Amino acid sequence: MLLTKAEITRLLTDEGHQKTLLKKADDVRKQYVGDEVHLRGLIEFSNICRNNCLYCGIRCGNKKVIRYRMEEAELVETARKASVLGFKTIVMQSGEDMYYDKDRMCRIIEQIKKFNVAVTLSIGERSYEEYKAFKEAGADRYLIRIETTDKDLYHKLDPKMSWQQRYECLLALKELGYEVGSGIMVGLPEQSIESIAEDLLFLKELDVDMAGIGPFIPHPETPLAKEKGGTLNLALRTMAIMRLMLPDINIPATTAMESLHPEGRIMALKAGANVVMPNVTEGEYRKLYELYPGKICVNDTPAHCRSCIGMKIQLLGRKIGTGYGGHKKVS
Ligand code: SAH
Repeated sequence: MLLTKAEITRLLTDEGHQKTLLKKADDVRKQYVGDEVHLRGLIEFSNICRNNCLYCGIRCGNKKVIRYRMEEAELVETARKASVLGFKTIVMQSGEDMYYDKDRMCRIIEQIKKFNVAVTLSIGERSYEEYKAFKEAGADRYLIRIETTDKDLYHKLDPKMSWQQRYECLLALKELGYEVGSGIMVGLPEQSIESIAEDLLFLKELDVDMAGIGPFIPHPETPLAKEKGGTLNLALRTMAIMRLMLPDINIPATTAMESLHPEGRIMALKAGANVVMPNVTEGEYRKLYELYPGKICVNDTPAHCRSCIGMKIQLLGRKIGTGYGGHKKVS
């Protein structure tokens, strides 16, 4: 559906018609991507980060975090176990930890590809050459959120980082043939509704394969500790509009949504989402990878998370995807 900035802004602010909007997004989801919910096993393999994003709990300036990184064999073994649990996609996410250089990352990707899974990377900004090498090693998809398209806001929130550079990463990944996922946070300090409307137009223009929309949740050990944060409802409306604008893409019910409400992901699945990314990280690491407070399932095991979400999906009358769940373009 083609929506103008004015129309998007109106839908974003129209709390009174939220129910209708979410229902419409659910209908479009059903029509374009069907009832399958694709599961991605998320491995949070390092919380070491060279960046200092004001919103993020694992920013390098947060000295209270106990830092960890998985060794190669441990990471590969975690992925293997996730594949045994039935996950057809493994998402490897971390801070920008340069210990995982090109060769090490390629070795890891090659080993994980042997488990017959799709591999998604979410490790931040790298050079074109590295992205190319990861692709050649077998990586299928890459997630890198633009976070906000308000460049001034971006530069305030991500000191020493450049919006242009992040954008160029997205372009490089597209050119290299990755399935590209991006997305934003809603409810950032000083973020206007018009700016969220522009974010949505940006994601449409970029023609992303996947878009994750999550509420910003202030972390107590960051400079934004006292900010208000985003609401679940605004995040749901943003996500629903995204579904109307890009009807056939993959849209995750984000973990941050469930951190604000015990049924956040279910509500998202009923409002346009068709993907869930259960955590398959083990043990203490789960707690230590704390981007925001109130993170769900920190004491659970991968097997528990897999069966719990499986049950919730069944109760919704939906099915768990049996394939790799890549983006299938309808038009
Ligand atoms: N280093 C990788 C992965 C970042 S973590 C990268 O740069 O892409 C994944 C996402 O978590 C971020 O892109 C951001 O949108 C989100 N995030 C970080 N801090 C958050 C917070 N306080 N509240 C909500 N989401 C947050």
